[in-house]
Amino acid sequence: MQLTKEKFKERFERKLDDYFENDIKHASNSELCAALSAVVRDGYAPQWRRTRISETHEGNKQIYYFSIEFLPGTLLKSNLLNLGWLKTVREALKEMGLDLDTIAAAEPDMALGNGGLGRLAAAFMDSLASLGYTGNGNGIRYKYGLFKQKFVDGYQKELPNDWLKDDHWEVRRESKAVPVRFGGKVEMVDDDGWLTPRYEGERVVQAVPYDIAVVGYKDGITNTLRLWDAEIPPQDELKYPTIADRRKVEDLTSILYPDDSNYEGLLLRLKQEYFFVSAGLQSILNYFIKDLKQTDFRKLPEYVAVHINDTHPAMAVAELMRLLVDEHRVDWDTAWKITVQTMSYTNHTIMAEALEKWDLSMMQDLLPRIVQIITEIDRRFVESLKGKTSDDVIERTRIIKNGRVHMAHLAIIGSHSINGVAALHTQLLETDVLKDFYELYPKRFNNKTNGIVLRRWLQIANPELSDLLDQTIGTKWRDDSNEMLKFENFYHDTKTLNRLEEIKLDNKKKLAKFIKKETGIEVDPTAIFDVQIKRLHAYKRQTLKLLHILKLYQDLKNGIDHPKRVVIFAAKAAPSYVFAKQIIKVINETANMINNDPDIHGKLKVVFLENYNVSLAERIIPAADVSEQISTTTKEASGTSNMKLMANGALTVATMDGANIEIKDEVGEDNIFSFGLNKDQVYKYYADKSYHPRNIYENDPVLRDTIDSLKEVPNCNGEPQALVNNFLSDNEEFLVLADFEAYLAAQKAVEATWAQKRIWYQMSLVNIAHSERFDVDKTIQRYAQDIWHLKKLHIEKTK
Ligand SMILES: *Cc1c(COP(=O)(O)O)cnc(C)c1O
Repeated sequence: MQLTKEKFKERFERKLDDYFENDIKHASNSELCAALSAVVRDGYAPQWRRTRISETHEGNKQIYYFSIEFLPGTLLKSNLLNLGWLKTVREALKEMGLDLDTIAAAEPDMALGNGGLGRLAAAFMDSLASLGYTGNGNGIRYKYGLFKQKFVDGYQKELPNDWLKDDHWEVRRESKAVPVRFGGKVEMVDDDGWLTPRYEGERVVQAVPYDIAVVGYKDGITNTLRLWDAEIPPQDELKYPTIADRRKVEDLTSILYPDDSNYEGLLLRLKQEYFFVSAGLQSILNYFIKDLKQTDFRKLPEYVAVHINDTHPAMAVAELMRLLVDEHRVDWDTAWKITVQTMSYTNHTIMAEALEKWDLSMMQDLLPRIVQIITEIDRRFVESLKGKTSDDVIERTRIIKNGRVHMAHLAIIGSHSINGVAALHTQLLETDVLKDFYELYPKRFNNKTNGIVLRRWLQIANPELSDLLDQTIGTKWRDDSNEMLKFENFYHDTKTLNRLEEIKLDNKKKLAKFIKKETGIEVDPTAIFDVQIKRLHAYKRQTLKLLHILKLYQDLKNGIDHPKRVVIFAAKAAPSYVFAKQIIKVINETANMINNDPDIHGKLKVVFLENYNVSLAERIIPAADVSEQISTTTKEASGTSNMKLMANGALTVATMDGANIEIKDEVGEDNIFSFGLNKDQVYKYYADKSYHPRNIYENDPVLRDTIDSLKEVPNCNGEPQALVNNFLSDNEEFLVLADFEAYLAAQKAVEATWAQKRIWYQMSLVNIAHSERFDVDKTIQRYAQDIWHLKKLHIEKTK
């Protein structure tokens, strides 16, 4: 819909008056934000309705992306951009004496995810709509998002994140509510010749969907992210007379587990997993039967694809079998064919501690019928392989072993496609982690390297760089990222290189101001801004960066010069992850020590910003000179902050892990600082148990001094010693000290390049141009073609 500035102003003022009986002079930012969001909702409402009607009318196949996390961040500017209204609204507000960015800052982040996995799910939603596919998100409406992080005396404190009180986007759809059953006993009885479950003593929870519009980029399509809330079924109100009784039901969706890369077998988590899987599949079958008026379930895979994002929704395999066999009386073999054709699965990690294995007896108590079904799937799987492969392979691949249910095995056996998220990761799945399965089902395996929403990370987060692209290569890149490669033609263009430097400096000044306001720390915008932003985890090795900081500090104290540098961290630690929290404390105290030492004349500053989330990422990334991607090789499945930073012209310091390898392939080895152990060296250490860091410590005086200085970080309670003990422990899993020397060498190269500004910005330019390879639209195009088999929706755009 076309929007003029005049029309916008009129609508905006009317909303403000309707909602708050207020005018622009007296309204608060959050009132202005609410009114602006209301104008935006009215803007997409007609196309949201039209998209739903066309879907049913065209009967196109739809993808339902099942994910226990979605991390969209804020939606206001992204919806404005995708509606094609961003520029008009920004200008109109300015004419009214208002600033869009200030108003938009009042919107809370939708932080229903921990990190990369949730962010990817949100990116996929945006991309599906923007490419014109009908894609639906299916997840949980957590009442509290990921905790808000504060530092008190250098320690992380977690506070609740009550995002719903200021949310402007969700729409409750009570008419689409479905029941979800837990507990009780189940008995199979003969009903008219069909073995049918009879339940006794079960508890029923009402799953109520809240829909959030996902506006496609300038294409008139608006999809739905459906998040489920748990309520008491209206007919059961008398069974829950007190507030405490009610809370037991409502608590099902109150918290997002604040842990990634680690699995905890907690009952509430198991409930959450079944809850959103069952609700999602029921609503899909309701759509199939009522809206599409289908009666032949064998046609389900022609209309529906269900994607299992990591193992959390793996019960979808068993639940679809239950619905087909028990509720719709499809025979087992047919139901199984339908299920496998419908399901596909993405693996996100090779780390054993993150692979879900549920206790069978716990599952039995909570989901008795699902356990019967999984047991039967397992029995038939074992039966089908007897005599065809060795008993060892059968034992290693079956779903139920030693009283535990292996969720990845359930997902793999029940899906027609299994993908990893970067080339190396998929290769490790095939040759190592899932080798047995790869030999059983080689055709099911494929790679789909992750991607990012360039629209958000460039057009929204970095308007100045976006303008420079417009001025050099024209505006087509905004609709077609392939065009960005043309930016490389400006490799020798002094004006463009100078402009790149100016833009980076501008963005750094803005971030410096923000840092001053948030932390009180003064940083020099002309220094190297060296950025490591991601979850705090041992495998991501914020520790290696810490050791580098200590080495630089010692040098400066000893009169050895280095270019000015500001190291910027942002990271949350899982509240129960003791080691990660110790790292935060030590970094914070190291920062205090260095930032307040007059001896080093401000040559080094360390800033740890609180509460990392998408909005904070949008502030930091445009201002980054160096992108730290230094995970232990083989441990980071893909990474996506590496891609966001590259798109904003940061140069990457990288181990050859995850998508870093593909970044290097893309920009060439001259345009990245790669270092460290390769995958074979890492695997050799693991296989031989030959990693003895104490030897390195004893034989490398530079490392020894650095480690010894770590022990001297003041104002701590044993945390530095805990880190040292970890680094020096025999066969330490993340091989921190093994990469130290190579990391210092890579950082030397960074410093040498920084001294040659023209080369630096040439490298930066190459990185920006080649970030098109990681456009999420390309990733989704491959999923749509190879896995989901989708066709684009045809919608008449209204003028
Ligand atoms: C992109 C992103 C991540 C993922 O970062 P990695 O470095 O790839 O782990 C995590 N959190 C937020 C808020 C992000 O925007």
